[in-house]
Amino acid sequence: MQTGVFSYMKNRYILLFAGFLLLLNVFCWQEVFILVQSQNLSVYFLDVRQGDSIFIETPQMHQILIDGGPDSSALRELSSFMPFFDRTIDLVILTHPEKDHMQGLIDILQRYKADYILWTGIKKNASEHSAWLDILQEQKNMGAKIIIAESGQRIVAGNVSIDTLHPLTNLENQEPKSTNNTSVVSRLIFEENSFLFTGDISSSLEKKLVVQNVNLRSNVLKIAHHGSKYSTSEEFLQSVSPKIAVISVGKNSYGHPTPEVLQKLENFGIHILRTDKDGTIRIESDGNSIKILNNKF
Ligand SMILES: [Zn+2]
Repeated sequence: MQTGVFSYMKNRYILLFAGFLLLLNVFCWQEVFILVQSQNLSVYFLDVRQGDSIFIETPQMHQILIDGGPDSSALRELSSFMPFFDRTIDLVILTHPEKDHMQGLIDILQRYKADYILWTGIKKNASEHSAWLDILQEQKNMGAKIIIAESGQRIVAGNVSIDTLHPLTNLENQEPKSTNNTSVVSRLIFEENSFLFTGDISSSLEKKLVVQNVNLRSNVLKIAHHGSKYSTSEEFLQSVSPKIAVISVGKNSYGHPTPEVLQKLENFGIHILRTDKDGTIRIESDGNSIKILNNKF
């Protein structure tokens, strides 16, 4: 009887030991995977239907998330890129507190810890806004640093930097009628390549940035406001001069993306990618050239 128990115990130890070896092996492979992956910058425009969510992995494996889409689809996608043991996102940016950018971010921040959260700090009278403030407080209690976005900021993640181009001034505690033109606009730079993220800004704000001589030039432009005709002016396209335009859009009743915007992009000879047609879009940069990868990864 005792031998039986012992042999059961012994078997259990063998199994545990085998499990431990397997785990070590997984970690070894993880390391190899990290080394293999560490050359390029990857930017994923997640298919979150009508909304925005962009996941960035730098060559040094920093993880950055801009917006979280309207529901839990970004969370689902995220768990397919993040190793199961990694529950931390280095930097989270909320462009503006609207449901189609923020709701999914609340879900994500309930599961992941952020080291830095960058947003505008504006006030808004909506139930999802108080849920956002609650999650911010929770993240703060866990040690997250909250940064109020303002132009002139530069966040450095290894050899990648992210410049905040808008808001032009600190908007903390202001309560604007519409939040679209409060959006954080950021430009990511990796050696010779750059990406411009525009939230939902309209043409009037685009003009302001052009007039202020802000350096907007980028290889990849995330089209503002899901392809609304009130955004993406010709002068803005001229200043950004992108090779690739990404439209993050899903089924909607606003007519996004509008024929006006699609026509302008065509006139400028810009390659158009759309999350409603292409699914999640992965763009990779080695610092010199940009590659559009298959969305199946
Ligand atoms: Zn939006």
